[in-house]
This record gives sequence, structure tokens and C-alpha cells, in this order.
Amino acid sequence: MKYYIMFGPPGAGKGTHAVALRDKYNLCHLSTGELLRAEIAAGTGLGRQAQKLIEGGNLVPDEVVERMIEKRFNSITDVEGFLLDGFPRTLGQANDLDKMLAARGDSVTAVISLMIPDEMVHQRIRRRAAIEGRADDASDVVIQNRINTYHAQTEPLIDYYKKQGKYFEVQADADTIEENRARVLDLMAKINK
Ligand code: ADP
Repeated sequence: MKYYIMFGPPGAGKGTHAVALRDKYNLCHLSTGELLRAEIAAGTGLGRQAQKLIEGGNLVPDEVVERMIEKRFNSITDVEGFLLDGFPRTLGQANDLDKMLAARGDSVTAVISLMIPDEMVHQRIRRRAAIEGRADDASDVVIQNRINTYHAQTEPLIDYYKKQGKYFEVQADADTIEENRARVLDLMAKINK
């Protein structure tokens, strides 16, 4: 199995481009944000716990997302690999993912990092708020908190994966989705050469 990580700040286009990679490379797309929103919509205990944290722009505990991911690794087998979107987001999660995969005789294949400047995060999320109606997209304070959380807790993963030689970056700051998608597909083709 291959294990690709879609990395980048909120609004970088991880979910949008994951769909193209999923279809082209026969991967299972796992978005921890989407899985959490499904728990909230279903009104589960986990969803109720996660809702406050998400709507404040804070991360949910590592164990919660790790359990959701591991469950899918164990049950989904009819694919070439997994495309992790929004996971890992902390060094703790990255370490635990490495252990999880080592136990299966596997390892992370590559990290595809989508880079955009902070101002663009605000712009894109404001636009998305009007379309998707996500509660955590509605307030500038919450968006800023997510950006701060990204810099403090998630950005250190760049060095973590650089040291493993698995970090690949693309500038995802073009004006159109099509242009950014072309850049991502191009990078993925190079990674798989
Ligand atoms: P975005 O990338 O736009 O912030 P996501 O859908 O990836 O959106 O995540 C939405 C929210 O779900 C995050 O702000 C966080 O509260 C929670 N979340 C998602 N993935 C994780 C994770 N790996 N660890 C902790 N919290 C997460």
C-alpha cells in the first residue's frame, strides 16, 4: 500500500486536489475533517466532543483522529493506497502514524505540500464559507486561530518529513483551480517516476 499525505494550511486546496489524485491513482481519500463533520452531523458522542473544538478553530485530540484513521486502514483493502488529507497535523500524530504503518510493514510514501500565503487563506476560506456553510469558516477570528494553530503545531512536520526525504512542495497560489490541479498532478507524476 502507498500512503500519501496532503499537507498545507487551511484553504490550500487539499480536499479539492485530493479528489483528482484519488481517481487517477486509485487511492482511498481519508479527510479527518470530513470524518469529524460526519460524526457531528450524525450526532454521535465523538461528534459532540469534537464540535466545540472544531468551531473554535482548535485541533481535536490526537487519539481521536488516530482511531478514525486506523479503523479505515484495517477495513479498506480494495485500493492501491491511501491519501491522507488533514492528517497528521501534529508531531505526535506523525510519530504515531509512523508506528501504525511500521506495525503493518509499511511507511509513508510521500508528502504533497500545498503552499499558499496566509492572506490567501483568509480570502479562500471566506469564499468557501458562502458555498459550503461550514461553521468554522464563518468567523475571521476562528480562521486566524486555525492559521496560528497551523504555524505552531503543523508546520514543524515539514522538517520532520524533509529529514525522511519524503517532502515535496508545490505553490498552490494560482488563480484557478485547474492551474493548481495541473501543478499537483505534475508533482505526483514526478514522485511516482
Ligand atoms: P481545513 O484544512 O480547511 O482547516 P479540515 O476539514 O481539514 O479543514 O479540518 C477542519 C477541522 O477539523 C480542523 O480545524 C480541526 O479542528 C479538525 N481536524 C481535522 N483534522 C485534524 C487532525 N488531524 N487533528 C486534529 N484536529 C483535526
